[in-house]
Amino acid sequence: MENWEKLNKMSYKEIREMQDRKLRAFLANQIYLYSKCYSEKLNELKIDPMKVKGIEDLKHLPFTYKEDIAPTDDNPQRHKDYVLRPDEEVTEKYGHLAQLSPYGGKAAVEEKVYDFKPVHIHFTTGRTAEPTPFLYTKRDLEKIRETGYRLLDVFNVTSDDVTLNAFPFAPHLAFWQTFFAGEKLNMPALNSGGGKIMGTQNLLDAVEFLQPSVLVFIPGYAYYFLREAVNQGRDFSSVKRIFFGGERVPPGLKDKIRDLLIQMGAEDPICLATYGMTEARTAWGECPSHDEYFGYHTYPDLEIFETVDPQTGENVGEGEEGEVVYTALDWRGTCVLRYRTGDIAKGGILYEPCPNCGRTVPRISSNIQRKSEVKEFDLTKVKGTLVNLNAFFPLLMGHPDILEWQVEIRKRNDDPYDLDEIYLYVAPKEGIEKEKFSSELRQRIIRDTEVSLTDIIYMPVPDLLNQLGMETEVKEKRILDNRVKA
Ligand SMILES: [Zn+2]
Repeated sequence: MENWEKLNKMSYKEIREMQDRKLRAFLANQIYLYSKCYSEKLNELKIDPMKVKGIEDLKHLPFTYKEDIAPTDDNPQRHKDYVLRPDEEVTEKYGHLAQLSPYGGKAAVEEKVYDFKPVHIHFTTGRTAEPTPFLYTKRDLEKIRETGYRLLDVFNVTSDDVTLNAFPFAPHLAFWQTFFAGEKLNMPALNSGGGKIMGTQNLLDAVEFLQPSVLVFIPGYAYYFLREAVNQGRDFSSVKRIFFGGERVPPGLKDKIRDLLIQMGAEDPICLATYGMTEARTAWGECPSHDEYFGYHTYPDLEIFETVDPQTGENVGEGEEGEVVYTALDWRGTCVLRYRTGDIAKGGILYEPCPNCGRTVPRISSNIQRKSEVKEFDLTKVKGTLVNLNAFFPLLMGHPDILEWQVEIRKRNDDPYDLDEIYLYVAPKEGIEKEKFSSELRQRIIRDTEVSLTDIIYMPVPDLLNQLGMETEVKEKRILDNRVKA
């Protein structure tokens, strides 16, 4: 790993040269030797890893898709083909060395164990595919600690801050990235497990007791939690930053959350977004700003990002809209190359120094549409057309008059052969004129999602919170597909 302060000052050319060098070494010394899947692919394509010059040659490698790694009935252990596993080689080469020389040999074996033995697991949380494990070795845990440190550095968090981590306990990136980040930075943190573990009341008490300057939340739960805090007249004046993971944060929601914090005495609180993925085993922070968007700062010594045309797979230019493609660099454990994230970066990838903070590492533009969720949903045929159900999130989450919402898709009369119906359950702010609100909402939904709602059903907040599983689920259930199958 390179020094983060140094990386942030390197020129585009220096970064590119470093990435070329690291990619050559990684392909030849790790991937080709120890990754079953990719060494087979390279052989099939007759690509000699010793002849790869750098990023320019990446395009000759095939893409990897979520479906390629996910377990299947025939091959439930398929993910192992993506893990760097020099087991045989280690035994053969270092096993007898260890016997010959108890000192040098033992150190060599320990080094290999540090490098290659998986010690930590996260799972993907796809809605369609089976959860897929991604493994970390001890060496990788050093990396997630370092990237956590970098993320907090981008957010201007220091060891003088105090954090309340409300991500749910789960073998997921969000919770553990936050945990390792705080630990690396020597920052006091309550890794609470969120409302599901501690209960919302205890968590509210914890904020007043610990007086954290940083809150870390899933956006949907944060909005509920802060409304509850305002209702109870809590003092949140210690809070300076709140950052989010697990879901996108539409601009409208940032505004609503900021307003709630200000109502509880916080001075000029800032909402921060992260971009992360299980497959990359880390997360990146958005450059902090109240109203402008400068993008996510990436780690060029630990990954290569490309942007491609989602249809043709051709690389697009700097700043051009494209699907984000991720390639691991110098990691161990589960390593994917040219992974199609399904996320569309509207403003592409930017290589010029950040106008906000001056860092020179590549930036992924802030406006990312989570196509991975789209992909999982838009294959569902609603009323015979492909629908982007993800469009409900920014519209309803960011709506100034909506407190809680849920979308349910059902079959009419619960008959699998009948028409699809879409219901919106909504708890609006008090004093809303329902008729006007309903008709405006229907129109905006048609415009953004191209479906017309079967009905809008008004519900009291507590009932809807229950239905969402706000206090009981790892992530609240915003979109329910309750269509009975034939
Ligand atoms: Zn910046």
